[in-house]
Parts: sequence; C-alpha cells; structure tokens
Amino acid sequence: GSSSLIVSFGEMLIDFVPTVSGVSLAEAPGFLKAPGGAPANVAIAVSRLGGKAAFVGKLGDDEFGHMLAGILKQNGVRADGINFDKGARTALAFVTLRADGEREFMFYRNPSADMLLTPDELNLELIRSAKVFHYGSISLIVEPCRSAHMKAMEAAKEAGALLSYDPNLRLPLWPSAEEAREQIMSIWDKADIIKVSDVELEFLTGSDKIDDESAMSLWHPNLKLLLVTLGEKGCNYYTKNFHGSVSAFHVNTVDTTGAGDSFVGALLNKIVDDQAILEDEPRLREVLRFACACGAITTTKKGAIPALPTEAEVLTLLNK
Ligand code: ADP
Repeated sequence: GSSSLIVSFGEMLIDFVPTVSGVSLAEAPGFLKAPGGAPANVAIAVSRLGGKAAFVGKLGDDEFGHMLAGILKQNGVRADGINFDKGARTALAFVTLRADGEREFMFYRNPSADMLLTPDELNLELIRSAKVFHYGSISLIVEPCRSAHMKAMEAAKEAGALLSYDPNLRLPLWPSAEEAREQIMSIWDKADIIKVSDVELEFLTGSDKIDDESAMSLWHPNLKLLLVTLGEKGCNYYTKNFHGSVSAFHVNTVDTTGAGDSFVGALLNKIVDDQAILEDEPRLREVLRFACACGAITTTKKGAIPALPTEAEVLTLLNK
C-alpha cells in the first residue's frame, strides 16, 4: 500500500436499490440501502488496497449521516474532513435498472447536507497534507458547495498535490446540459489526471465517436494523464508522449456500480508515492492492468463499496 495521503472530496449518500431487478422505481416492492457517492467510493477503494485515504464532505447530522461516517471509519478512511449539517439531511438516491435497460435515478437533494458545505468549514490542514487530491463531485452544481469545491482544489494544488478529476456526469441533476458542460470544462485545466467514461467523452465532445481524436480534443497543456474507461472493453490512456489501450478482464458481471471508482482508486494508490509511473509507459500499463482488474472485480458483486477488492483479490485475478 501507499504511505502518502489521498484526499477525496465530494458527496457520500445512500443509494436505495429495488429488492428486485428490472422494475421501475414506482414498481419496486422494497429497497435495499447501499452506501454510495463516487468520491467516497474512491476513498474506500484506496483504503481497501492498503493505501491512506481521507474523505472530505458534508453529511446530515442524522441516522444516515452517522451511518456513512461509520462506514468510512470501519474501512480505515480518515473522517476528520467530514462536517455534519445541523439542519439539512443526508443525500439519498433511488437508482434502478429498468426492464427496458434504462437506468432511472431519483435524488433527495433539496437541499441535502452535501450541497451546504461552505468554504469556511473545510479542514484545510487535512487538505494541504494530501499528496493526491481527487474530486468529481456533483457538488460543483450549486453554491455554497461549489465555492468549497474550488477552495479545496486550490488549497491542495498550492500545497503541491497532484489533482485528479472524474466529472461523474449525472445529467439529470444539472439544470441543463449546457450548464453541465460549461461547469465541467471550467475546471478542466486544473487537473493533472482526468478520467472520463465513454459516455462522458461523447457528452463533452458533442460527438458520438470514441476514438483517439475525440479524446485528444479534450487534452489540455498541463494534463499528465487522460483516461477513457470503456466498461468491458477496458480503457484508453493518453499522455504527452504516448497513448494506448488496456483490455478488460473477463469476469462474471452482476452489477457495474462503482467499477470506475474502483479503477480510479487503484490508479491513485499506485502512483501516489511514485509519480514517475505517469511518464513510463510499461509501468503505467502495469498499473492500468491492475486498475482494470480492480474495476472488473467490483462488477462481480452487488453494490459498490462491498465489491471493492483487496490487493490480494486483485493479484489472484492478475495471476489467473
Ligand atoms: P465508469 O464507471 O467510469 O463508467 P467503467 O464502467 O468503464 O467506468 O469501468 C471502469 C473499468 O472497470 C473499466 O475500464 C474496466 O477495466 C472495468 N470494468 C467495467 N465494467 C466491466 C465489465 N463488465 N467486465 C470487466 N471489466 C469491467
């Protein structure tokens, strides 16, 4: 595992998942509670692999908020960057994969605690001690958490952290597609590492092509690594000096939730103490193979957090 700190900024929430699959939310006979939120998943992914991680964000001072903070701590993630809002409740998401194959989302966010994090509440000492600062929060959407997001990002950068960004586009949450694109691109050139999914690549470029040309159209001069994840097709990587792809592993997929977060957590954990990997293609490919294995394992169990692998599980898949 790594010995330097990875700080992940954003939201943590409860996903309510129907007890039976292939139904609409309105038809669900009941729901299972699953802890979620991409930035929290990334922090736990790092910790489960033996790395050091902290989560920064705001939860409700309610049953769900304390349950989520407990889950972070049980998983070895530092929780001293968490604030609890006295008034607002913890964010909730209702998520289902309907029979027609479409994913249906509904959010309790009016407003939820995560949206109310203010710049003054940030644990700057913690943020400044990060070697890698990861963000990818839906909290870019509204104030005051948008300002908190910007301040945290800048504090980490000033203190010398490597910045990692995953836009985690959840389009229904945005007032409009144009605004989503604008806000995401407004912080694009701050990041050293960016990971987008194939869907996000299409959305951000406005083209339905998922090729090198469209990926490179998102390149910015200070970027060190751009990753495009392709689900069961693996991932493509781009740096200033080289690019290529890494294939996915064949596994028994039951639920892809959290695969991207697992992939990112694995990558960050490998480079946090050895950033030279970013300039060394053979070593980077090894790390991306490891990250793809993590993503693959995460799809073999229901839910994100319960499915995040340990290093030993990843090595077993790699050596198969
Ligand atoms: P995102 O959550 O960003 O859309 P992906 O679903 O592409 O990310 O998953 C991230 C990585 O996890 C992929 O690059 C791939 O290596 C692995 N992965 C995802 N889905 C599968 C799958 N069905 N089978 C094998 N590996 C997968």
